[in-house]
Amino acid sequence: MRVLIAEDDRIIAEGIEHALRKSGYAVDHVGNGADADTALLTQQFDLLVLDLGLPRLSGIDVLKRLRARKSALPVLVLTAQDDIDARVRGLDAGADDYMVKPFALPEFEARVRALTRRGTGQPTDIEVGQLVYDQSNRIARLNGQAVDFSARELCLLEILLLRAGRLVSKEQLVGHMCGWDEEVSINAIEVYVHRLRKKLEPDGPRIVTIRGLGYCLEKPGKPSDSANDGS
Ligand code: CA
Repeated sequence: MRVLIAEDDRIIAEGIEHALRKSGYAVDHVGNGADADTALLTQQFDLLVLDLGLPRLSGIDVLKRLRARKSALPVLVLTAQDDIDARVRGLDAGADDYMVKPFALPEFEARVRALTRRGTGQPTDIEVGQLVYDQSNRIARLNGQAVDFSARELCLLEILLLRAGRLVSKEQLVGHMCGWDEEVSINAIEVYVHRLRKKLEPDGPRIVTIRGLGYCLEKPGKPSDSANDGS
């Protein structure tokens, strides 16, 4: 899951960026509205955290432009104080939720989890064969036992689970897993997939390599035709 933070207050931006990274999100940060607009036009995100009081282009204008492009990207708006007008304008312009600064980080993280779930239109638990993934607590269980995944492995597994039975290209995985100042190469993706496979063996769903294209997390009873094992 990749999050764009548009916030000109460095301390707030660094706080939420750190918290989200720790939870395994890929995070990008911009400090003004014009850069946010450009990033949203050119890159793929799973959530936008948007301060309304931004220089160069206001948060409301960023949001209006986003929705005018028919984007359904979930947006969590941050408002400077308990300013009811700003909140109403934000919701009217298409925000999904808002938080009033200052806020507690655990509450912020809970809202982010709720919004990234809503964005996928999936129920809280995703079940694929013997694997059950609890999206709100980000815990994967295999045969009822919690499996220990690293933050990066979990991020990759999430993307594959949300698209179970469908092809996910390596480029898509890179796009969802890394922010601008992080490096996740295609080779690294292959390593993460290898580790995931080991941890999912022998009872979990198979991650099938579609040669030259990407990966597919197999749904039981739905083997993919053109699939090859190995990577
Ligand atoms: Ca601001």
